[in-house]
Amino acid sequence: MQGKMMNQPLIVSSILEHAERYHGDTEIVSQTVEGPIHRYTYAEAHKRSKQAANALLKLGADTGSRIATLAWNNFRHFELYYAISGIGAITHTVNPRLFPEQVSWIVNDAEDQILCFDTSFSTLIESIAPQCPSVKYWIAMTNRDHMPDIRVPNLVCYEDLIASESEEFTWPRLDENSASSLCYTSGTTGNPKGVLYSHRSTLLHALSSALPDAMNLSGRDVVLPVVPMFHVNAWGLPYTAPLVGAKLVFPGDGMDGESLYQLFESEGVTFSAGVPTVWLGVLQHLRNSGSKLSTVERMIVGGAACPPALMQSFRDEYGITIQHAWGMTELSPLGTVNTPKSKHLGLDDEERFKLDIKQGRPPFGIDLKIVDDNGNELPRDGQTSGDLLVRGYWVIDQYYNKDDSPLVDGWFPTGDVANQDKDGYLQITDRSKDVIKSGGEWISSIELENIAMSHAAVSEAAALGLSHDKWDERPLLVVVRKAGQDVSREEILAHYQGKVAKFCIPEDVIFVDEIPHTATGKVSKVTLRKQLSDYRWPAPK
Ligand code: AMP
Repeated sequence: MQGKMMNQPLIVSSILEHAERYHGDTEIVSQTVEGPIHRYTYAEAHKRSKQAANALLKLGADTGSRIATLAWNNFRHFELYYAISGIGAITHTVNPRLFPEQVSWIVNDAEDQILCFDTSFSTLIESIAPQCPSVKYWIAMTNRDHMPDIRVPNLVCYEDLIASESEEFTWPRLDENSASSLCYTSGTTGNPKGVLYSHRSTLLHALSSALPDAMNLSGRDVVLPVVPMFHVNAWGLPYTAPLVGAKLVFPGDGMDGESLYQLFESEGVTFSAGVPTVWLGVLQHLRNSGSKLSTVERMIVGGAACPPALMQSFRDEYGITIQHAWGMTELSPLGTVNTPKSKHLGLDDEERFKLDIKQGRPPFGIDLKIVDDNGNELPRDGQTSGDLLVRGYWVIDQYYNKDDSPLVDGWFPTGDVANQDKDGYLQITDRSKDVIKSGGEWISSIELENIAMSHAAVSEAAALGLSHDKWDERPLLVVVRKAGQDVSREEILAHYQGKVAKFCIPEDVIFVDEIPHTATGKVSKVTLRKQLSDYRWPAPK
């Protein structure tokens, strides 16, 4: 017997419809590419999104058309998210930090039909346009006064395009399993792979992300996503914020500590999310300027392991909780968030901190397991590490344009190595390709990096396993010193005494001016390995 309840498809356009009807006067504030701060409301954003939908249809966009965006976090990008997915086309967010060849490779793989770009990327657009034959229109996301002077066929001005369009549009009742957006993985190994989200997965992800033990968002929040809309849909915040009616603040390209601080204070931001480097920048600004954040209550850190020292500094110096989260492009991206249970509230500071630095536990909708090399599930004892597998409502089934499935017995192998405790709190100990295996024992590169980062003179550190005649592999620590600080190899090595087993202490330490990063802000161990290809271990004493 079937239930006798309405069968309304879970589609992205319903979020903005809801935001207009019930939070119509809530603001969206943007740092624009043109300079000034722009502000309007969910009601106005919905109207302009409908104008953009009418315009895209006239340009020939159809169900399933891929329409790319190459843009910062701002109001026009937000409108396009909804306009494109709302008409049944696919919002393909492209990461502008990639090399031009990678951008054109991705645009060609996706066969994008239209590409919408912020004018900061005009030079990049001019250079890739001849290599992207599928793109029929290039839409500059600006007004007539700020149109770039570039030679690109069918260059269109976004504001002109939508100005004459009707504000009336009825969003089609799409199949909830149809594709809504596309995002490519950062591709540290091999070519990037496309992850094709559905309306249903996006909506369920947004609903679960808002839960109290996940991002805990409500109509009383002011949300500033630092994480870019071109990287896993800004962790879903452009969907979750309107779904709960939170005010949205978009930082544009101003992701340095000072610019973020100004926006946090002027807009009364209560919640923000970003990668560790962003929070290091904010921390540095607070320390240098002697300022305090007066409205921020919660910050989510993810995308890479949060150095415990960073979490501690925000807590002790500024009374702000940084919540650790873990996710992946293939997971839309939310996998886990760290929130305590009531039984943890009585823990002493040290025990509580041990819990807080873990990556957290999954919200409803995600299931995790840790397995050994033969696929057997390992005990949830908070100790035993193995390969992390995941399944759930917003987890990938198949990559875009690929026939084979990445799944193993219905689970997605994440490539991360982790342990889980009896309450399900996850602790990522490594990437399977980054683990260091020394004399048959595993050494966690993340642990070595965290210890290095807790040294007062260290700004950034990366641990690499390099081949070693005797031990198979040994850890090499690469360190960037803080400006004006001096610290020696011996002092760094001494810092490890008593913190890890002797065999885990790095074999050697080298100092560099800069550690290479991928386009999504992670340490690029591939590039670092290439840079260190001539490195040789010191002769044994
Ligand atoms: P991406 O798909 O670019 O978001 O990268 C996902 C990968 O980033 C994961 O598989 C992890 O290796 C890493 N990652 C994300 N969040 C964390 C975290 N909180 N701690 C450690 N690694 C993380």
